[in-house]
Amino acid sequence: MSEFTKTLCPYCGVGCGLEVSPPAELGKATNRDNQGNPIWRVRGDKAHPSSQGMVCVKGATIAESLDKNRLHYPMVRESLDQEFRRVSWDEAFDLITKRIQTVRFTQGPEAICMYGSGQFQTEDYYIAQKFMKGCLGTNNFDANSRLCMSSAVAGYIQSFGSDGPPCCYEDLELTDCAFLIGTNAAECHPIAFNRLAKYHKKNRKVKMIVVDPRRTPTAEVADLHLAIRPGTDIDLLNGIAHLLMRWNHVDTMFIEDCTSNFPAYAEVIRHYPPEVVARECGITIEDLETAARYWSQSKRVLSLWSMGVNQSSEGTAKVRTIINLHLMTGQIGKPGAGPFSLTGQPNAMGGREAGGLAHLLPGYRLVKNPEHRAEIEEFWGLNPGQISPHPGLTAWDMITGLENNAVGLLWIAATNPAVSMPDLERTKKALLRSPFTIYQDAYYPTETSAYAHVLLPAAQWGEKTGVMTNSERTVTLCQAFRQPPREAKPDWEIFAEVGRRLGFTKEFAFANSAEVYAEFAKLTKNRLCEMTGISHAQLKAQGPTQWPHPEKSYELRVKSDELESSTPNSSLLTPNSSLLTPNSSLLTPNSSLLTPNSKRLYTNLRFHTPDGRARFGAYYSKGLAEPPNPDYPFVLTTGRLYGHWHTQTRTGRIEKICKMHPEPFIEIHPRDAARLGIVDNQYVEVRSRRGEAKFPAKVTKAIAPGTVFVPMHWGYLWADNAEANALTHPESCPDSLQPELKACAVQLTPISLE
Ligand code: SF4
Repeated sequence: MSEFTKTLCPYCGVGCGLEVSPPAELGKATNRDNQGNPIWRVRGDKAHPSSQGMVCVKGATIAESLDKNRLHYPMVRESLDQEFRRVSWDEAFDLITKRIQTVRFTQGPEAICMYGSGQFQTEDYYIAQKFMKGCLGTNNFDANSRLCMSSAVAGYIQSFGSDGPPCCYEDLELTDCAFLIGTNAAECHPIAFNRLAKYHKKNRKVKMIVVDPRRTPTAEVADLHLAIRPGTDIDLLNGIAHLLMRWNHVDTMFIEDCTSNFPAYAEVIRHYPPEVVARECGITIEDLETAARYWSQSKRVLSLWSMGVNQSSEGTAKVRTIINLHLMTGQIGKPGAGPFSLTGQPNAMGGREAGGLAHLLPGYRLVKNPEHRAEIEEFWGLNPGQISPHPGLTAWDMITGLENNAVGLLWIAATNPAVSMPDLERTKKALLRSPFTIYQDAYYPTETSAYAHVLLPAAQWGEKTGVMTNSERTVTLCQAFRQPPREAKPDWEIFAEVGRRLGFTKEFAFANSAEVYAEFAKLTKNRLCEMTGISHAQLKAQGPTQWPHPEKSYELRVKSDELESSTPNSSLLTPNSSLLTPNSSLLTPNSSLLTPNSKRLYTNLRFHTPDGRARFGAYYSKGLAEPPNPDYPFVLTTGRLYGHWHTQTRTGRIEKICKMHPEPFIEIHPRDAARLGIVDNQYVEVRSRRGEAKFPAKVTKAIAPGTVFVPMHWGYLWADNAEANALTHPESCPDSLQPELKACAVQLTPISLE
């Protein structure tokens, strides 16, 4: 038997396969971390189809974080000014159960909130949904994915009638033009970007366009870098569409046969001529035309985006405006083409599948849809009408709910909102008002543990077996390879035990996580994200599998592909139509998976809207929610660095990564620095309308004049007064309710060198 256990990297949504083996190696000294703990050995899994053996520094060093600063026992305190005292699980469960009953009785179920995480495995997500939405009767479950990709979810649903990224990583190596907007993939999704960059380097005809106000490592290798002003993405996208229309580079057959609402969109883009767009975006007309030319000359265009697009007060509109370009050019449902959102967290996709946001139910269902609620109620054995028809409180709603005394119990698990939420001063004040906060995490302390009344120790990566889905819909079994330390438990087991103690014994009668997954998978039957052919046993035997994957899917799909290809919609098969090879790559023998038709969605060009057509969204640009003005003349944009992950709960404990990124900083253009008298490494005080922070300056042309950049990784445990989110604001997209964490207006004051 192999000494290596197959699992998945628990950091970003690329979802790289890992193999882990025990620390002690015969005949060799055991590697130890700086606290003396033996380190498990990690290497890339060559058989994993998404990463093919590659790992970045985060994945390679992950094992070093396993034993540091772990929370080992349940702990409680009556008020936040007291010390925690250790209690037994029995005592902790008893306290939580009584408190839930009291809040339900006195304030109603809507006063109970749970805030979860894209770090959850799908089983954790599913049990949390059943517990909150089914048993307690509130949809107040939201996850930190709300801050990361909920605009992509809303955009897909509005344009295609369903969530679900239509593309796969193989498209990175099949495209003619990669259009990256609002994504620094080289640092934030390094292994996916590696695949694209290698292919781009080898094939000089392949074009790469990067749209980003910063000259990031991603932009460095692009053929065209469009350093647009923050907030002008829709101007740019409509401007490209305007030129494609003017040059008659639109797929009229596709538009007529497969889409709706094109006239409204055409009317909008009429107002985006190149002179106007170039001025608004702060780029040249030539560069805008080059971008449009790359689009028009490419048979296969792949758009990639992440938080630079999603974290915006017009995030859903931006996503739909990207999708519009694909619809007007027929660039979807074929190899190397399509709109492809890169997910931030390792299992934010699994959260979407399991209903892990306040407006969702399992199996890509919506709380607002009465049929969807009825299906779940029947499956869970609830009475009709038992699931609330109202979407629950989202991440930021929970903060305002605390401010309004509408929240009686807040349960936070596997996330660190005291660093990652916008407007941190306000967030922290709201957390202080919480009458009862349960904080469930693998690590202690974190910035959020300071606000807890109860601490519950969670098992983490490598200590529980469960499933995660990456950005390309590949589902991987993450196998446990060691026991949880001391009394730590898997998240789903903690939720299930509280459910049983509240009287829902049969609802939570699961012997293990494989049974949890099996129940969840049944709920995906006949849904776009069908996984009825996936189970823990199947994943272990056959390896990672993309959905949709119904039972017996391989034979069925090959037959249905044959049937479809023999009865094509003739109007789509025009000579210069890109649709001539719709499914060809799907039946190639070197397919790494036994589910050929799951690689791409919408290959039959039918969408999940009532009329089967994809819908154009018609949007004018509104710009930033908080534009600069004479008092706050700079736009602050926030982002991530190659080595660190989110709020450093793990990576801050890894020596190599801390050496790589020793401290936070602010990037400022030399022209702005000279005007304000700022030199390299000089501390700068940054103020917004909400708060202030201090950072050493990095004077660099990588950032455009008028814009400054700060990484978001540092909470107060890691650096004094360097929290990026002390400055950001919570204005959110009205459709996705995702806050605009990417931009706010600030003023800069150099701090004297004396
Ligand atoms: Fe992990 Fe993402 Fe790096 Fe892959 S690219 S090793 S998933 S952090």
